[in-house]
Amino acid sequence: MMVRTGIGVDVHRLARGRVMSVAGLVFPGDEGPEGHSDGDVVAHAACDALLSAAGLGDLGSNYGTEDPRWSGAPGVDFLVETARRVRGAGFTISNVAVQLVGNTPKLGTRRAEAEQVLSAAVGAPVSLAATTTDGLGLTGRGEGIAAIATALLTQPLPETDTP
Ligand code: MG
Repeated sequence: MMVRTGIGVDVHRLARGRVMSVAGLVFPGDEGPEGHSDGDVVAHAACDALLSAAGLGDLGSNYGTEDPRWSGAPGVDFLVETARRVRGAGFTISNVAVQLVGNTPKLGTRRAEAEQVLSAAVGAPVSLAATTTDGLGLTGRGEGIAAIATALLTQPLPETDTP
């Protein structure tokens, strides 16, 4: 069996009047991530980690911003389609781990709910953690939020003719 790991990072600016869509959930508040889509950094980082592990490029190369099909699409929709493409390339998804970096939203009691939504989208366990940056940087100043993700895939070894 071959084992492959991948990494993904995403950052979105926060803006007033946007919906706080993060980790497949909607959080209350008067600001949220800006973006061509819903700006769900957790879902986007998870997609990039999956694509990275499979050697299938990244979000930008898979879902061009000129494609109206993906304009405004929820992050979870990208995750479902990305998992489909990764499996289509012959991989089994072992797990995805994501860390949200920012002051908001507070995952708190909704972490298990988010993990359930993300895991259902991927069809494999997705674990979610969160951290702040001690007030430093773009996330510490509240200008944006970020996420970092890893993914682990397996693939059967190719058959050989060796007896
Ligand atoms: Mg993004």
